[in-house]
Amino acid sequence: MTTIESRSPQAPSDLVVRVPDTAPDEVATAAGLARDAAAAWGRGPAQARAAALHACAEAVVSATGELTDLVVREVGKPVGEAGAEIGRGVAILRYFAQQALHPEGEVYPPADGVSLLHTRRRPHGVVGLITPWNFPVAIPLWKAAPALAFGNTVLLKPAPQSSAVALRLAELFADALPRGVLTILTGLAGTGEALVDAADAISFTGSVRAGQAVAVRAATRGIPVQCEMGGQNAAIVLPDADQDAAATAIAAAAMGYAGQKCTATSRVIVVGDAAPFAERLAAAVAALPVGDPADPATVVGPLIESRPVEAIRAAVRRAEAGGAQVLTGTRQPGGDGWFQAPTVLADVPPGDDLLSEEYFGPVCAVLPAESADAAVRTANNVRHGLVAAVYTQNLAAALTLTDQLDVGMVKVNAPTTGVDFHAPFGGEKESSYGPREQGTAARDFYTRTVTITLTP
Ligand code: NAP
Repeated sequence: MTTIESRSPQAPSDLVVRVPDTAPDEVATAAGLARDAAAAWGRGPAQARAAALHACAEAVVSATGELTDLVVREVGKPVGEAGAEIGRGVAILRYFAQQALHPEGEVYPPADGVSLLHTRRRPHGVVGLITPWNFPVAIPLWKAAPALAFGNTVLLKPAPQSSAVALRLAELFADALPRGVLTILTGLAGTGEALVDAADAISFTGSVRAGQAVAVRAATRGIPVQCEMGGQNAAIVLPDADQDAAATAIAAAAMGYAGQKCTATSRVIVVGDAAPFAERLAAAVAALPVGDPADPATVVGPLIESRPVEAIRAAVRRAEAGGAQVLTGTRQPGGDGWFQAPTVLADVPPGDDLLSEEYFGPVCAVLPAESADAAVRTANNVRHGLVAAVYTQNLAAALTLTDQLDVGMVKVNAPTTGVDFHAPFGGEKESSYGPREQGTAARDFYTRTVTITLTP
């Protein structure tokens, strides 16, 4: 049996877990068991599913401390953010437990005046979830909770770097969920491909490259698919913005959890004279504590692997050779872990990858814009379209820019990061494919509608 390892990014010699790389035939077997379990789970009362999800929430509550420590250890998330993520996971489970009891259909006027013409919702059957490592609790739960609430069974393939957290969640849920209702399939991309080949619907979160491959594979089978992918998110700062508040918020949005969020700010577009704001932002970033994610003071921990550290350093060297200035980030943290100093750049040459690609690390570029219109053009000039922020005191400007930004989410005077699980979540262009997730949008994805005519 081939195995894969998950190592702690702050101490790579710390082997967190070694797990199987699940083979395609094992995925097919697991899908068969999940399909058997789907009959009872999906046709049973919604009240039973709601109660089971509430029990899952209680299991997470009782394991909060232990799970927080595991998230810190396995994916290097600063402990404050890790604890908040566990709390969010609990809230997600409770929210979707209640949604299981919401009205599920509509009644329409029948053509004959007497029939009962109505709709009901049915689960798809077995839903395959493919998830990244950066929110190892929240993302699996914001997919699994609605999938289960609406009567599907779930096969979850976590990213290898978050295998231990996924397995621990499943252990915590074992008493609440019948056998075969939620199964973790550890493994690499081949396991994910086999899952797309075996499931009745697929929900993916990860990079654009992998998401596009998943979307094509699922479309070939004709199954419902949603993919939430990467971002290259801009914050626009207008001259009338509260400059200090904007600098503080953008520093956290760009560098929190070492920039490893799909919603992190990568480009800061300043209307007017950019230099004073760039200095403010660099100072706010330089003040962020970098180090051991288990230390409650830490804001910027390690990166998940050595590869993105090397990629960011090479990109910064390339941009500098093209004339960019490093405003902060030249002094690299010491230690064994995969750390990168939070880095702010100015004068990045036009066309540089730092202005168009997702580096998924603690690096951002400050760009000047002559006008608000020019700022919007720059913000929209990427293949991604996840989220944007606008900093201004002018309501009319905020509303105008909100309408012009090609993104799925706009934050006014708020960081690009931060997700509300009870509101629709998703992006535009290459950031998303398929329907939105979370909130009430989740039910549309995890069910299909049946139209029924009942004539007496
Ligand atoms: P990733 O490399 O794309 O992997 C995501 C998941 O897809 C992993 O479980 C991965 O397994 C699997 N996978 C890769 N290729 C596949 C294929 N051909 N078929 C099926 N499954 C496949 O992303 P990551 O490094 O884990 O996470 C970082 C990325 O996620 C960033 O781009 C970030 O922006 C994005 N993200 C997006 C959101 C959002 O909601 N928009 C939220 C969080 C993160 P292996 O790792 O074994 O290949």
